[in-house]
Formats: sequence, C-alpha cells, structure tokens
Amino acid sequence: MPWIGLGNVIEQAASYAAGQSMPTLTINGTRVEASDGQTVLEAGESIGVTIPTLCHHKDLSPVGSCRLCVVEVEGAEQPAAACTMPATEGLVVRTESAELTAMRRFVLEMLLDNYHDVGYASPDRPDNELMHWVRHYGLPLPDPSQSRTAPRYAVGSDPNPFVWVDLNKCILCTRCIRACDEIQGRFVWSVGYRGHDAKIIAGTDTTMLEGRCESCGACAAYCPTGALDDRMSLDVGVADRLVTTTCPYCGVGCQFDLNVKAGQIVRVTSNPAAPVNGMSLCVKGRYGYGFVHHDDRVTTPRVRRYVLESRPKLADLASRGPWVDVDWNTALDICADRLASAVQNEGGDAVGLLASAKCTNEENYLVQKLARQVLGTQNVDHCARLCHSSTVAGLAMCFGSGAMSNSMDDIAHHAAAALIIGSNTTEQHPVFGAMLRQAVLRRGMKIVLADPRRIDIAEFAALHLRHRPGTDVALVNGLMHAIVEADKHDQAFIDERCEGFDEFRASLGPYSPDRVAAITGVSTEKIVAAAHLLADHRPMAVIWAMGITQHTTGVFNVLALGNLQMLLGNMGMPGGGVNPLRGQNNVQGACDMGALPNVYPGYQSVADEGVAATFASVWSCDGPDVELPREPGLTVTEIIEQAGAGKIAALYILGEDPAMTDPDVNHARACLAAAPFVVLQEILESETAPFADVLLPGASFAEKEGTYTNTERRVQLIRKAIEPPGESRPDWETIADLARRVLSRLGRTPSGQQARWEYRSASAIMDEIAALTPSYAGVNHARLDRGDRLQWPVPSADHPGTPILHVGRFTRGKGKFHRVEHVDAKELPDDDFPLLLTTGRVLYHWHGGELTRRSPALLEAVPESLLEIHPSDAARFAVRDGQMLRVTSRRGRMQARAVVTDRVAEGIVFGNFHFPGEANVNNLTIAALDPIAKIPEYKVCAVAVAGEAASEELIRKPSGTGSFC
Ligand code: SF4
Repeated sequence: MPWIGLGNVIEQAASYAAGQSMPTLTINGTRVEASDGQTVLEAGESIGVTIPTLCHHKDLSPVGSCRLCVVEVEGAEQPAAACTMPATEGLVVRTESAELTAMRRFVLEMLLDNYHDVGYASPDRPDNELMHWVRHYGLPLPDPSQSRTAPRYAVGSDPNPFVWVDLNKCILCTRCIRACDEIQGRFVWSVGYRGHDAKIIAGTDTTMLEGRCESCGACAAYCPTGALDDRMSLDVGVADRLVTTTCPYCGVGCQFDLNVKAGQIVRVTSNPAAPVNGMSLCVKGRYGYGFVHHDDRVTTPRVRRYVLESRPKLADLASRGPWVDVDWNTALDICADRLASAVQNEGGDAVGLLASAKCTNEENYLVQKLARQVLGTQNVDHCARLCHSSTVAGLAMCFGSGAMSNSMDDIAHHAAAALIIGSNTTEQHPVFGAMLRQAVLRRGMKIVLADPRRIDIAEFAALHLRHRPGTDVALVNGLMHAIVEADKHDQAFIDERCEGFDEFRASLGPYSPDRVAAITGVSTEKIVAAAHLLADHRPMAVIWAMGITQHTTGVFNVLALGNLQMLLGNMGMPGGGVNPLRGQNNVQGACDMGALPNVYPGYQSVADEGVAATFASVWSCDGPDVELPREPGLTVTEIIEQAGAGKIAALYILGEDPAMTDPDVNHARACLAAAPFVVLQEILESETAPFADVLLPGASFAEKEGTYTNTERRVQLIRKAIEPPGESRPDWETIADLARRVLSRLGRTPSGQQARWEYRSASAIMDEIAALTPSYAGVNHARLDRGDRLQWPVPSADHPGTPILHVGRFTRGKGKFHRVEHVDAKELPDDDFPLLLTTGRVLYHWHGGELTRRSPALLEAVPESLLEIHPSDAARFAVRDGQMLRVTSRRGRMQARAVVTDRVAEGIVFGNFHFPGEANVNNLTIAALDPIAKIPEYKVCAVAVAGEAASEELIRKPSGTGSFC
C-alpha cells in the first residue's frame, strides 16, 4: 500500500516495542486483539464498530481536537478521545451511550454555531462529513436566517482557480493543514491569529498560490465541511455514478473516480483504494478533465474536399480547403484505398504508422499489428522514441530489459538514499514527487539531486549538484571514480553478478573529481561528498527522466547510471534499482505492445525467427504471398522525414502530435505538409490536424475500455464512464475496421478470428496480447477488474506479478559494465547564440499541451509560454521580468514571457513546449540524434534572446503560478 498519511500513530507504535504481546481489550462487550500501535478507534474499526470523527482521518496524524470520537472507558472519570487513545491491554470501552450521544450533540451544536453555508439546504447536494453527523444525531440543519452569528469571511476568498475557500464553513479541524504537510509536503496551510480570531491561513495570510500551493486539491479532498472545495464542481450536486479509472496524464498511473452526471464528467474524486496513489492526486489528475467536453473535440469523420473530388493535393496548406464531414464508411474506405494502393504499388515500406502513448495497450497492439500483419512493414513507432528510447536501449544493454526495475511505493518506503538526475519529479510526476518528499520528512531518506536548475525537490535534497546540461556522463563517472577511490564499491555484488568490471574500472581513470568539476561546473568537494553519501546510504535508488535521455549521449547517460547501480550493488532489492520515470500515461504500455520498429510485443526481436514464426502463425501470415518483414523499420523522425520526401506514400497517425512535439518542428511541419497522404485519428483538432487529409474521431480515456501500463510496469484498467461524443467511437474499433477493409482490398482472407480482426471487446484484444507476449501472459481484464495488482512480468494467470526486477539474476544473466566517455553536446553557445537553452514542462501542463490547454483552469494557471533566465543574463541582454522575449536559434524563433530567476544558472535559459505556433520552444530545438536510440537532443541547443518590445503594456508579471516562478 502507498503511504497515504502520517496516521497510524507512529509515536504510539513505539510503545509497543518488539517482544510485547498484542494488547487485548474489550469494545462494546467484544474482545479485540489490537495490532501494535493501534488506537481504540482503529481497534473498533477492525471489528466493524464505527466511532464518529471529524478532525480524524486515517491517513493523517491524529490530533484529538474535535472530541466527536469520545468513548467511555471503564475506570476513567471522563470520556476520552478514541482517535488518540492507545489500545492497551485490558481496556474496557463503550462507544455508545446516552451520555456520549449528548456530548456529541453538544460538540456538533458548538461547531454549527459558527458554521455558515448558504448552499447546505439544496436538495441536490451531497452531504459533507459534518452534515452527515448532524443528520445522524438528529440535529436540525443550520438555517442561515436563524443563525445567532453572522458570517465572518468573504465567500470564495482565495483566487485559486481550482480550490474554493469559504472559511465560514471551517471548523478548525486542521485536516487541510495535515494533508498539505503530511501528504503533499508543501506546508501551505497553518492556523493564524489567536483566540476568537484564529483561522486557517495560506502562507503568511496571503493567497494559496503565493503560499506555494501546487493546487493538488488534497486540502479540499480531506476537508470534512466543504470549507475547502473543488471550485469547478461547487454546484453540480450529487453525481449519478462514480466510475473508477486511471489518469490520462502521466506515467505515475494514479486512479480516481470520475463523477458522472447526465452523461458529463462533473468532478474527479480520490479513491482511497487506488493502488499507486491512495487519496493523492495532482492538479492535472484532479482538475484537468475539461478537454473531454471541449468544443474542439472531433465528433465526425472528416475528409478534405480535394480528396473527395480526387483532385491533386496542393502544396500550400492554406489552399487545401475546408474539411467535409462524412460518414465512417466514406472515411475508412478512402483510408483503406490509399493504404492498400501504397502497399500494392510500392510495397509495405511505403507506409508509416505512429502509435500513441496516450492510447490503450489494446489500441497500440492493434496499430503495430496493422503495420506488420496487414501492411507488411515494420515502420511503426511512437513518441517513446522522443522521450525514453535511450532508456530502453541503455538498460537492455546493461541488464537485458529496459524498464523501471522497482516500484514507486517501494522506493518511498525502503530507499535510504535516492539520486534524482534529470527528473523534475514534483512537477512532472507529482504524486511520486510527493511520496519522495514524504520519505525525506518521515524517515530521513537522503536525496542527491543532479539538475542544472534549482527545481522544487532541491529544498528536500541533502546535496544539489548543479551541473551543466549535457555533462551527465562526466558527472556520474566522477561520482563512480570517487566511490572506487574510497573503496566504497560493492565488490562482492560485482564479482557474483556482473561482468566487464576491470575494463570499466580502468575507464574511470580520467574522471578525477577535479577534472569532472571543470567539465560540469560542480565543485570537487561536492562531487566527492555526493559520491560518499550515495555509497554510504544503501539501498539507493536512481531516478531519472528526460533530463537524462534527451541527449545525443542519451544511451551513454543511461549506461553510466546502470554502471553506478551495479558498482554499489543496488540492483534487485527493495529501495534500489534503476528507475526511469516514463512520461505519458501509457508510454510504457505502447513500448510493451511493440509499437516500435524493431520489436514485437514484449520486446521480442523482429529478427528472431522463432518469434516471427509464432506471430505469423497466429496472424495467418505464413502463406507464400504474405511475410512478416525481418528488418527493423523506420523511427518516428525517420518516418516524418521520409513522408516529406514522398517515400512514405501513406502516413497513419494515432493520437500523436508531431507538428507540435518533434524537434526543429518547422522542419517536421514542412515534411508533414509535403507528405502525399496523412490519416490522423485524434480526439481534438491538434496542431497536426491541418496537415491531415482524413481526420478520424477518437474516444477519450473516459469513453472506452482498455488498459494502461504505468511507469512501474503496473497494468491498470480504464473504464468507460460516458458515451463518446457524436460519431466518435473507441479507437480499437476504428483500427480493427480499417484493418479489415485493407485486408479485403489486398485480397486476403486470413484464417482465424484474430487474424480476421473480429474483436468483440478490448478484453478480447488483451487475451490475444497475453497469448503472444510472455511478460503479459497472466494479464486479463477479469483479473484487473477484481482488483489484482499486476506488474509485469506476469507469466501466468495465477502469477501475482513482479514488483522488483533483476532479483538474484539479471534478465541477460550477468549485468554488463560499459565504458562510457563524456562527449560534448552537438550545439553549444557561441558568439551568435550565446545562451544554452534547455527545455522541459511545467506542473500545470502536459507535453504538447493538447489536453491541458483545453482544460480551462489549467490554462488559467499558466496561459502562455514562459522562459526562465538568470538575473545576470537578464541584465546582460536588457531583459525585464515579465517582458515578452524573442528567442532565436539556428532553426527558428519563438516568443515567450521572461521569468527572471536564479532557478536557472547563469548562461542557461529554460523554456517549455506546451504552446503552439510562435510560442513553441520546439521551433528552436535541434534534431541531432543519439546514434543508438535516435532520440533527439531536446535538452541542449544554443539560442539568443532579445526583448520583443520595451513598451510597458507588454511587461507584466508572468501569470504562471506556483512553482514555475
Ligand atoms: Fe495523473 Fe500523474 Fe498527476 Fe497522478 S501524478 S494525477 S497520474 S498526472
């Protein structure tokens, strides 16, 4: 289970030290054997006795302040609070009596005296916890017209776009304070003032955002009175139903309940049983569902008029004319004709397919099957190429498999230390970031942060190594040099489980801390201190994200981290491991499903004869005229390039936005514009939509069934909560329909339902995946639906899954050390472009911003592109805080609002890629590729900045709130 709070009375647990017997007490006449450290409240709950509470929540440390949970204890003069009373041997407790009822009614009457809620009487309003107990004890509901006191506070007193504040309903239970401190580790709320004036305040009685609020909504989720509430859902009333599903944003894979009313999502609420996150959610998961009902949703199939009229495609985008709404048959027949004729005229490799890290496992499986079985090409890839392909390649070289080895919960509970390198964890994987903060606060886990920026997790780090972007290999080699020099490496682990150590050890020679300090800009002393800290605190987990992978040395960076964990013997154990945090909700699953040009599902090589024979048999591709290609296909960037050159005659894109997210995006857009035929299957009119010839409407995560696989290899269901809008339908249905039409045009009649694409459900597709993918063999929807928690590999239907990889043995047998050398980034600053640009994301947006820009409150929080620049660089280039900037590189230009801050080091600027057109930082980035993984170097290029205008109107405080500024 995840940590979901400081509850369970840690201090009291200590009093039941090991060796003491379990205390036995009596509650309402029933004998109870309590667990170590349990309170009377918890002991009562264990036998089904409900004791009323308000200030108490099981996730939070108990305070015993509201006194609603008072119980009678034999021999005691006064009733006592059950939430703080240890369940000790021999206690005899009574939880109900006339006296207790009178006391509880008195407590509630006192609370109601100062409680003002003009909306409580609405017949269509869910009871909060306070109102529940008011009704339970038969008290009259408060009536504002009869109130003896006047409201004391302004309603909606804080401008936070997500959390509504009405202190007239606050009972000072402090659950919000404890949730923010203990769950989120953010310390926004406290009690300010004294006596009668005491009230909950944010920061130093400022606004929540000025108090560094991350808008996660935990305070509202734990509030028992509605004093803090979800602003977007104040008047929605009672939901028709709750549907438990998985978040569509990041790879943490939080689950929550969609509250559905009249076919619309009206609120997201925490589901305490969520395997990864419990009650925790971040701002995107809790409040970022606006895109589902956005006007930009594509609701009917659309085709360009010139396609319908069989006229030639014009080179100029603006002259291509409008969309024409058509029926599904028309749209799919056009797509099938073009795909089939490309194959018939030019061969399968004249087609390229992009699968989607946003879509389900089942849909990604079908896209790669469409490529291989139907179209006869390995030209299938997706955006993992742009984020973690170097991780997959590097870890496969070290250990034989390329996924996160441990679990987030396991790291949060067991790691003595963590090296966080190239991961802005609290903004990009916020719930895991909060778990790491808890690990520091609760049990003193040591964090060594290696990041060029002073990101938020820095304040929880024992050491922050602020190295220059692009010097990761040198830094990690320097750490390992210092570890070996101090003889702190784990020779026994190395001898038993690894190979190639002697050569590797010799390769560290040139990476003395002094030389590494000169390369990285981190002091010698800090490098040595960090090395010793990491070696002295084991198990140590290495955590990384795209700060490591998106370099021309991406694979080298990953190899260096693999070396480090073998050197310290941190593999195959709780709290250790190699832990790449995957970006999008299902990028792990899209890779697992073989939406990559070199592997079938389960990372089975396309070159392997036996593997190919198995797939050919099930897919009915073993006839003389149908063959599965054995050479790897093209990658994302190569597919786009080849489409632009006319060598890809038909391009099919499922839910990806290359016109927004590719590096040197102007070039990518030119390629898309020149592509002979583009089919886009999407839920929204994305930046890629203008380049499409056919637009097929997709279904959002809330409108279909399927599974996502999170960053820790956990396969989880998404469930249909509402109907897809208009003519749109689940993407797996569309892909299967298209595949059947192409097969028919190619004159193929494969044998077997699976080969003929006759699927009745997403569940049936998963059954086919399980049959062909050893690591998913035991995964099926029924198991997931009944709550089985499955992390692959799951080799059989009765296997419980594998939370930790490489226990006792690496996938490849012995772990392999690799010699890795520092190489400069492809483009460094010079006289013309004197600043180093590094790129990333902000808390309130996600990737290309397609979804978050269509969720109004998220857009309100950060409405425009921002560029962080150091104060001395701002002075050097006459840039003022809040001024619009023009940023140029050798490839293009962008506009962004300046944030003058020392979060970035001198000489470095940081931009994000959430806004399109002139605001897109990918106008500037370079398409230089890692030679092995072919991942682009998004993290380093050279730029120049200039103020767009000096006029005061253009200068305002960036409205980017919270941690960005
Ligand atoms: Fe969704 Fe990730 Fe936020 Fe969890 S941390 S709610 S998965 S965006």
